[in-house]
Amino acid sequence: MTDTIEKPQADWSEVAAALAPVEIIDEPVLVKKRSRDFFWYSPILNAQLRRCFGDLVAQPKTREEMAHCLAVAYARDLPVVLRGGGTGNYGQAVPLKGGLIIETTGMNRILEIGEGYVRVEAGALMADINAALIPQGWEMAMFPSTQDIATIGGFVAGGSGGIGSIANGALREKGNILQLKALSVEADPLEHVFDAEEALQIHHAWGLNGAITEVTLRTVPTRDWVGCMASFDDYRAAYEAGYALAISDSIGRKLCSVVDARIAGYFPKLEGHIQAGRDLLVTLVPREDMAAFRDLVAAQGGTLDLAMTEEERAEKGVPHVFEFAYNHTTLQVLKADRSATYQQLGVPDPADADAVVSVAEAIGDDVWHHHEFARLDGAVMTADLPIIWFKDEARLREIDGIYASHGFTVWDAHTFHVEGGGLKNADYRHLAWKKRMDPKGLLNPGKSQVWETVRHLTADEIEAKAKD
Ligand SMILES: Cc1cc2nc3c(=O)[nH]c(=O)nc-3n(C[C@H](O)[C@H](O)[C@H](O)COP(=O)(O)OP(=O)(O)OC[C@H]3O[C@@H](n4cnc5c(N)ncnc54)[C@H](O)[C@@H]3O)c2cc1C
Repeated sequence: MTDTIEKPQADWSEVAAALAPVEIIDEPVLVKKRSRDFFWYSPILNAQLRRCFGDLVAQPKTREEMAHCLAVAYARDLPVVLRGGGTGNYGQAVPLKGGLIIETTGMNRILEIGEGYVRVEAGALMADINAALIPQGWEMAMFPSTQDIATIGGFVAGGSGGIGSIANGALREKGNILQLKALSVEADPLEHVFDAEEALQIHHAWGLNGAITEVTLRTVPTRDWVGCMASFDDYRAAYEAGYALAISDSIGRKLCSVVDARIAGYFPKLEGHIQAGRDLLVTLVPREDMAAFRDLVAAQGGTLDLAMTEEERAEKGVPHVFEFAYNHTTLQVLKADRSATYQQLGVPDPADADAVVSVAEAIGDDVWHHHEFARLDGAVMTADLPIIWFKDEARLREIDGIYASHGFTVWDAHTFHVEGGGLKNADYRHLAWKKRMDPKGLLNPGKSQVWETVRHLTADEIEAKAKD
């Protein structure tokens, strides 16, 4: 199903003039750069998206300026793509139909820090939010490993969880997103407030149903985290240690990742810090729980190769341990060899070592495993984010099939449709709000396959489908 929004034939110098006083970028090379995200992790998406570019970039500094951008686009029927840091993996921020890119990084003020919450503008970088919180005794409940360049608006619109999720659950879980404010795309854009659970109407909608201006998130008391890497003789042992840590009630941790020794071979910045050729457990443990963690590693037959506080890490110039976890693992390999790609897979219950080892044996040597442990609705869940040495799409789909036949869930990382990846099915609540907030369907056109089938309905009729 294709979207009915077509690439606009606008007079872009007229649009640029109408956007004043908002700053714009019209230099084609720079516009092209801001039309990309990390879709190139996928050779399939790379072929589909690498020639999709926007026409003009607007850089609002306030919500009034953002409202002005949206009004200008509405008046001229221009497609609009919101963009934070452009670190999404599925072409989420790629303008499929050209048009206006609204880059939010100028809207970056931290508005309020209180007991257990932070209120910020949507374009604030997560590393800056954490840097403001920590001296006041707080930190973000979770953040992606891209925190240095990714915005909080991009995280709530495109992300799902990250470092901290093993302690505090997924972003979408109750109490993690406290409030979102978002502008509609109308002649006179209105700011809507989505409190608590209502925020899920906008969360993970890929900027399809509103332009987020402000985010209020839960924060947690900060701790003196020690970045650790323990190494093991084989993957089973590393995985069992990771699982034991993930389900531990006595050891605090905000990251729990297991990485195949062959992937760790692509971490040159860790040379001299970890033993070569061994499978890794990568974690962040509070200083006061280090003795218990050491015992756990020893009991599982491992060696604690690296343990650094934040000060030691900064002094030695070693990257954060989380830059060797989540999707950064894939990035470390891709820096050396662009023939790698990845996939996202949910390990079925019980997510024990037998489950992961038996699928590994069935698949073969072109897939190198990497598991992340997180908490979902209170229970520990495990995801495999393997490196896949890409041959062709047929082999990739064969690998998906082997995982599926072992009971794994495939959250396809090789589609640019919101319904294709993590979301799986249509979210009619998202689309009902799209109808209310974006009646012309200008926001991020082409990313929802289902929108075209419901856009003729009223918002209430679309919402009713959520109950079917
Ligand atoms: C190496 C690597 C590691 C990653 N690790 C994680 C991880 O651990 N967890 C995770 O969840 N993700 C992860 N990601 C994906 C991504 O980095 C995060 O989701 C990040 O938070 C996106 O923020 P951004 O500012 O870059 O968003 P962008 O890529 O700019 O945008 C993402 C989506 O949000 C929309 N959007 C942006 N701003 C707004 C706004 N103000 N209003 C409405 N819509 C908006 C965009 O249109 C787009 O659809 C990773 C990606 C990479 C490349």
